[in-house]
Amino acid sequence: WAKAAGRGQWAVYDPERSARDIARSALVAGLPAALDRGEFVLHYQPIVSLLEGSMLAVEALVRWEHPELGLIGPDRFIGLAEETGLIVRLGEWVLRQACHDAERWWREFPDARLVVSVNLAARQADDPTIVETVADALHTSGLPADLLQLELTESAVMGSADEPLRSLYRLAALGVRLAVDDFGTGYSNLAYLRRLPIHCLKLAGPFVEGIRADSAADHRDERIVDALVRLAHALELWVTAEAVETGEQAERLRALRCDTGQGRFFGAPAPAGAITARLRGDAVT
Ligand code: C2E
Ligand code: MG
Ligand code: MG
Ligand code: MG
Repeated sequence: WAKAAGRGQWAVYDPERSARDIARSALVAGLPAALDRGEFVLHYQPIVSLLEGSMLAVEALVRWEHPELGLIGPDRFIGLAEETGLIVRLGEWVLRQACHDAERWWREFPDARLVVSVNLAARQADDPTIVETVADALHTSGLPADLLQLELTESAVMGSADEPLRSLYRLAALGVRLAVDDFGTGYSNLAYLRRLPIHCLKLAGPFVEGIRADSAADHRDERIVDALVRLAHALELWVTAEAVETGEQAERLRALRCDTGQGRFFGAPAPAGAITARLRGDAVT
């Protein structure tokens, strides 16, 4: 027995659970200092045209280079950073670093017009200073606004009051592109799609995972993808399929008129240098 569930409450001691809680609070406690010490790094994952095979964009994905634990993925700390509010500072660092890297790619490979796609947490999108922050990141880096895309989840798009975020209009007015991330996993209030200045839908991984040529499969996910691509195109939106892992999925997605794909099949997230090398390779061919 241990005093675990707060004052005056007794709970069954669960060693696994408390080890997890200790690890969790140690990570939370370490986040602000890690940001000050520069322990976060961005990896970039290609977003590729399904028709042409060319790399049109890259998504910036943050990682923590922990001095003892090694490289830690965002699934282990983004949620914590959201809970503590640190996401606003961390997200601003991600945005500025991504704009800086993208501006270098733009200068070195102007013809590629590579777009950098940055995830915005709900809490960041909700922050009243977000528009000034994005405008300043563009200005400071010198990146043209149309080479920046911001990814928001469906719930972030809807804001905290179940009303679409007003700042989305002001962000769009800056000239940046807006994408709905993990589309199809939230509570899809489709009405927002025709009212909001959105440019792209990113189809959530699980739909793509269900795409197999396997004749025993019922092709339900494929029919959902088909319907979502038609919906997106009817609204003049681009569609990116997430988590494309096989050539067969890429082929089916292309047949379904999906515009772009992202996933291990086209390249895993990698440091900025790998993207530079790929742009150099694309430029010579
Ligand atoms: P997301 O924005 O949906 O990013 C796509 C995730 O899919 C990435 O996970 C990526 O590594 C992973 N992925 C790539 N290829 C494949 C594949 O072939 N199959 C499958 N199943 N997955 C693939 P990652 O890097 O672990 O990031 C996880 C989530 O953390 C992201 O999901 C995003 O929601 C969040 N995140 C990452 N960086 C940031 C950031 O800078 N700010 C915020 N707010 N969230 C971030
Ligand atoms: Mg991960
Ligand atoms: Mg994303
Ligand atoms: Mg996603």
